[in-house]
Amino acid sequence: MKCRKLEAIQKDDKSHLFQNYGDRLPVCFVRGEKSYLFDQNNRRYVDFFAGIAVSSLGYGHSALSRALHNQVDRILHSSNWFFNREQNEAGRLISSLTFPGRTLFTNSGAEANEAAIKLARRYGASLSKDRCQIIAFSGSFHGRTFGAMSATGQDKIKKGFEPLLPGFIFLPFNDFDAVKAELERNQNICAAITELIQGEGGIRLVNRDFIQKTEKLCRDRGVLLIIDEVQTGVGRTGKFCAYRHFGIKPDILTFAKGLGGGVPIGAIHAVDKAAAAFEKGSHGTTFGGNHLACAAAAAVLKTIGKAGFMDQVTKKGDYIRKRISAMRKKAPFITDIRGLGLHIGLELDRPGMSLVNRALEMGLVINCTAEKVLRIMPPLTIDMKTINEGLAILEKLFDETGKES
Ligand SMILES: *Cc1c(COP(=O)(O)O)cnc(C)c1O
Repeated sequence: MKCRKLEAIQKDDKSHLFQNYGDRLPVCFVRGEKSYLFDQNNRRYVDFFAGIAVSSLGYGHSALSRALHNQVDRILHSSNWFFNREQNEAGRLISSLTFPGRTLFTNSGAEANEAAIKLARRYGASLSKDRCQIIAFSGSFHGRTFGAMSATGQDKIKKGFEPLLPGFIFLPFNDFDAVKAELERNQNICAAITELIQGEGGIRLVNRDFIQKTEKLCRDRGVLLIIDEVQTGVGRTGKFCAYRHFGIKPDILTFAKGLGGGVPIGAIHAVDKAAAAFEKGSHGTTFGGNHLACAAAAAVLKTIGKAGFMDQVTKKGDYIRKRISAMRKKAPFITDIRGLGLHIGLELDRPGMSLVNRALEMGLVINCTAEKVLRIMPPLTIDMKTINEGLAILEKLFDETGKES
């Protein structure tokens, strides 16, 4: 069954590349169309993964494709020594879709969080000398650079890299009493950083009461609230940002994954008072916000900001959750269905990787996170026909799995 061509590709990977992604799935995608992917043999797959929520508009979206072609023909990069119209446009769109403030573009989610950590420290230092500590939460994921990794509440991510960046205080996710106690006893906290749905942590939702109380207390104490929207932002949950579901007002947002529709870009967006802490010369990046990446972001933001776009995301997500709920009768190994919009987690009573592999064989791309949680996050533009096609494969997969166990 195995094709020789894939074996050759696998062999080249082994010879030339770091083996840190050692468990790559046995497929090589060469092309995409809408919400379908095609492998090296031109076999078609339904995409319920969107490259970790990155390909927000699917593959070959006309507005994104046009914007990119136009930009490639004009200029890719000039540098942050110069003004940049595409940056202005993307920043203006982020403000209009979130809150009035300022945006700084980066190249990835980790770098956006890195910038947020640096900004919070610099802001804290402007208030008082020792105000450098940041509250973070268990189960979180903020990225792989030293700052972002040090803010991450999962030991497996940090193992072997010590010493980490000091100054992070880890508290249990969704435990307001712990936040309150810490803020009462510790005057040196400048910020708290959290996801609202822990993505890598297994699609775990923040508790509404917890985050509302935390936001209020942070505001009272002059502690900046950083919301990591790297995975949940840019329409993924059916609102532009997940924070809009919870009735809170963050001071700092970080974005990446879906922002460029596949072009690498991240961003930090902050209220003016916080953004002002990065004075002239205090932070920067060579590539961040280059013309190409910002042209992509602007095209994605315009598309997602269109009237009705996010309602479609909500409807599709609700439909998928409802259909999977119905499948649970025959699939008792699914212990929970979670998520908002097209950010969906199915918790299993067993490791999920074998189901991911089997789905791939059946022509469906899904993912597994936190060992036992199947993660479904298709392109936001996926149509109902493709959703139903993917669900039919899932149903078959669950039937099979149910019979085996
Ligand atoms: C993916 C992710 C990051 C890291 O983004 P990279 O672009 O991989 O650096 C940070 N935070 C969250 C919530 C993420 O899901």
